[in-house]
Amino acid sequence: MLKKKISKILIGTNNTGKLREIKDLLPKNLKIYSTSDFNIKSPVENEKTFEKNSLIKARYFSKKTKMICLSDDSGLEIDALAGAPGVYSARWGGKKGDFVKAMNRVFKELNKKIKNWKTKKIKARFICALTIYGPNRKTINSIGKIEGHISPLMKGKNGFGYDPIFIPNGKKITFGEMKPLQKYKIDHRFKAFKKIKKFF
Ligand code: IMP
Repeated sequence: MLKKKISKILIGTNNTGKLREIKDLLPKNLKIYSTSDFNIKSPVENEKTFEKNSLIKARYFSKKTKMICLSDDSGLEIDALAGAPGVYSARWGGKKGDFVKAMNRVFKELNKKIKNWKTKKIKARFICALTIYGPNRKTINSIGKIEGHISPLMKGKNGFGYDPIFIPNGKKITFGEMKPLQKYKIDHRFKAFKKIKKFF
């Protein structure tokens, strides 16, 4: 069991979009470090689930720095594509992290699989697995999901990754069109974070 609240933490991601969002979720009195403070590259994420990949990152960054680490593995699952891009969400953006390319790939795969998909509701969800890993501490895991559908057009310039093509249930605009704080309060990362908030 955790005896003491965490007072300083390393955010185990080299993704600046995620880093920004996670920093916004954490309490303001917490001392936050990022991987750029240590100049560490990301580990290979070769597992098939978000939970396991999140653990790979948290363990790797914690072992490198001897710090408590919070890591996130997340991605977009599209039912009509049998859950793709899923754990490969980052990889669809290629080495340069080109998410226009990744979103065009989503459109291309949907064109191949479903006739007139643009007139249909293509069910999708963002999933986020968070892990807190630290020396002599029990590892903590948490999962958050947000359900929605795929927009037939890329819309909005906010956020990162697949935000311009994801419309959450109950809304008419994409994550890319939402103000950051509006997105942060409902998304998969927020939901996963809510469950582990008590440790900070
Ligand atoms: P990884 O967890 O570092 O393997 O990367 C997950 C990938 O999923 C990111 O590079 C994004 O493309 C995508 N992703 C995860 N969360 C979000 C989000 O909140 N908005 C948009 N894309 C996301």
